[in-house]
Amino acid sequence: MGEAKAQDGIGKLVTDHKPFWKTTPLTELSVEQWESLCDGCARCCLVKLEDEDTGENHYTDIACHLLDQGTCQCKDYANRSTRVPTCVAVTVESLPKIAHWMPPTCAYRLLFDGEDLRWWHPLVSGDKNSVHLAGISVKGRIISENDIAEEDQQDRIVDWPHWDVLDPKEGDDTGD
Ligand code: SF4
Ligand code: SF4
Repeated sequence: MGEAKAQDGIGKLVTDHKPFWKTTPLTELSVEQWESLCDGCARCCLVKLEDEDTGENHYTDIACHLLDQGTCQCKDYANRSTRVPTCVAVTVESLPKIAHWMPPTCAYRLLFDGEDLRWWHPLVSGDKNSVHLAGISVKGRIISENDIAEEDQQDRIVDWPHWDVLDPKEGDDTGD
């Protein structure tokens, strides 16, 4: 989005029309602004397995049973915490504790780390499908947790939830 500036009668800059995520701290966002930051990638809806020795979380390509695999949206967002107690609640309060293991492309993690939103984020592109077209979302490469036995989940550990896709002008895909 282009930056527009206006001047008052004495020539002082009074307005910077920057997007809200560049001007407002995460702690001061409205509920609507906070929710709009979610790019809809659904990477945080993947089953994660914890290494008992290191405590490290490993992403799998197994999706929560409440995830609509076609849209990458939660089928019961309002009641998600009740229906899925392990569902990650990304809030101003929780973000400092969970940001380090959220996907590197997650808008909340990016802003928490002082970075900007990526070019494919719907708020930047103006297209809610850009997160899918850029290959960031889980669309087309997951199975439901309903379709796999718990003892087989460890065979589904994958790296791609840690991949990033930078602006083509900046470079190619990069790892976490
Ligand atoms: S990883 Fe972040 S941006 Fe992606 S769906 Fe989860 S909260 Fe939203
Ligand atoms: S309950 Fe909904 S938001 Fe939470 S992990 Fe499952 S699909 Fe995702």
